[in-house]
Amino acid sequence: MGKIIAIANQKGGVGKTTTSVNLSSAMGLKGKKTLLVDIDPQGNASSGVGVDRRTLKNTVYEVLIGETNAKDVIIHTEFTNLDLIPSSMDLAAAEIELVSLEHRESILKNALVPFRDQYDYIFIDCPPSLGLITTNALCVADTLLVPIQCEYYALEGLSQLMNTVRRIKRQYNSQLDIEGVLLTMYDGRLNLTQQVVEEVKKYFPRKVFASVVPRTVRLSEAPSFGKPIQYFDKSSRGALAYEALAEEILTANKR
Ligand code: ADP
Ligand code: MG
Repeated sequence: MGKIIAIANQKGGVGKTTTSVNLSSAMGLKGKKTLLVDIDPQGNASSGVGVDRRTLKNTVYEVLIGETNAKDVIIHTEFTNLDLIPSSMDLAAAEIELVSLEHRESILKNALVPFRDQYDYIFIDCPPSLGLITTNALCVADTLLVPIQCEYYALEGLSQLMNTVRRIKRQYNSQLDIEGVLLTMYDGRLNLTQQVVEEVKKYFPRKVFASVVPRTVRLSEAPSFGKPIQYFDKSSRGALAYEALAEEILTANKR
């Protein structure tokens, strides 16, 4: 049965989408059947794997409001073992529309659970908020991967995120666990980076991935070509970092 990992942090610009795209692609290249689910109305994960949303009739939005089945929106990308459920700008409205529905926290769960045995890994790229859409992701996820940018105020908002996780565990998904905390935009030459690393390790003992993602311009360039880093510059430091992260997750999940 496949594992569902939500990539979440309500702070914007911490590397959620970059991680979703490149970790999904790295898993695919390791021979794992992978599904990337884009639930951010901005749709950067969808365009990051070369999918132009304007050409799509149905997206995750129609799935969430019950107008279509998830199997009808899955796109086989041009990348190895990598499928996508694309997002839509309408998702911003869904945040409000879903409120009136029964079982509104488990809509994504009901949509994705049938696909669990068709994939080895399902990654969900969450929007930068702790609203109903992110709640839906945390209700279906086995684990949560939290990217943290090595910057000032890195820990800001994390207690709020952890409170949300505790509430969801209590109310809907008692199995929810933390896959790991990922340090992104890492620059080992900076004192600031070292300080952030220490703080994060104190806050999340034993949960911080050994793999870190360096700050590199290649990672920020790849999305404009609609390609994961491995297909854009496969020997770059960014590509190697996400390969190492995929390997670390695979090893941890073998145990
Ligand atoms: P989020 O999804 O959390 O909002 P993104 O993944 O979109 O964050 O990243 C925010 C911005 O930072 C994007 O422009 C992205 O290209 C850039 N970025 C992300 N990770 C890195 C990195 N390791 N090195 C350089 N730029 C990065
Ligand atoms: Mg994003």
